[in-house]
Formats: sequence, C-alpha cells, structure tokens
Amino acid sequence: MTADHRHESDSPALRTEAIEALLVEKGLVRSAAVDALVERYEQDIGPLRGARVVAEAWTDPAFRARLLQDGMPAIRAAFRDSGGFGDNTDSHVARLVVKENTDTVHNLVVCTLCSCYPWAVLGLPPAWYKSPAYRSRAVREPRRLLGELGLDLSPDVEVRVWDASAEVRYMVLPQQPEDTDGLGVEELAAFVTRDSMIGVERL
Ligand code: FE
Repeated sequence: MTADHRHESDSPALRTEAIEALLVEKGLVRSAAVDALVERYEQDIGPLRGARVVAEAWTDPAFRARLLQDGMPAIRAAFRDSGGFGDNTDSHVARLVVKENTDTVHNLVVCTLCSCYPWAVLGLPPAWYKSPAYRSRAVREPRRLLGELGLDLSPDVEVRVWDASAEVRYMVLPQQPEDTDGLGVEELAAFVTRDSMIGVERL
C-alpha cells in the first residue's frame, strides 16, 4: 500500500470486524443481520446522496458547472441546508472529481491499488469494487469487463477509466434518461443507481 492509497478506514474496519466476530460469538447478533445492514448501506442509504447530487445537476446547469469544476465545495454549498451531507463531506478526503458521461464518452471509476471510493456521496463500496478482478480488468480491458457486466458500449464511445486514491475520488455523472424532462429532483433521483455513478451501468 502506498501513501497515496492510505486508508483512513483500515484500522476502524479491522476493529469493526473484530467487534462483529465477538458479538456473533457471544450470540448477541446474527451475522446475517449485520450483512443485511451493510447491504442496505451499500445499496440504498449511501448512493441516495449521490443520486440527489446527480438529479440536481440534471436540473440546474449552474450547479452542474460548479460540480464538474470542483465536486465537494459545490455539493456542500448546494446541500448545506437539506441535511444528509454531514461530517464526512468535511473530511480530509477533500477532492471529489465528477466526470460526466456524454453520447461519445463513458467514464468508469476504479481504485487499482485498494478500494478508494467516493464514500462521502456513494456510501460504502460494493464488495466487487474491492475485488482484484475488477481492479485490474477495469484498467486492462474496461470495454470487455463492462460488456460482461451487461453494458455493451458501441465502438464509437470512448471509455475513460479514473483511478481513485485517498486524495482524489471520482464519481460519474450519468446522462439523464430520455423522456424525463420536466420531472423534479426527487423523481429524477429515483432513476439514478449506484452502479451508474461508478460507471458500470448507463441509465
Ligand atoms: Fe484505494
């Protein structure tokens, strides 16, 4: 592990695992219940923040421009009063770079060395994000990997891969789905999936 990929959560993660093991051993919690909770954070609670950011960007061109220029300050300013973007948006993981998909460019986020992830907006990373296969293939053969994940990109779409680190995290701004003009932020946010913000899915 290099200095760039220091994990602010390594030690707490280990300690958490140890605590979970102990609680399960003592019969105080069931492992399945913990798994279910983690899954909820991976799939629902975490990504909802990102979905709101994306929907806001779709509906507000000025916010979109600020978001693409420098992610975290734009998000902090826009969501200051609406809650849900608490302490961890102010952490030392200062830089969030948002990459927008277009008809001709598709962006994909990975951390090749470990599992750096834009958790301030997407919550916990999915288990596969941390797998050696995803981390290496996202760089070596992204188009083929995406195809296997169900995303067949036309050859004229350029794939750009962004390698995260402790200092710089990436998030994809997916394209707004067709026929959704005029919908409000809340309705639009419901279209946005976690995977689309990692870049393994298009909406
Ligand atoms: Fe990492």
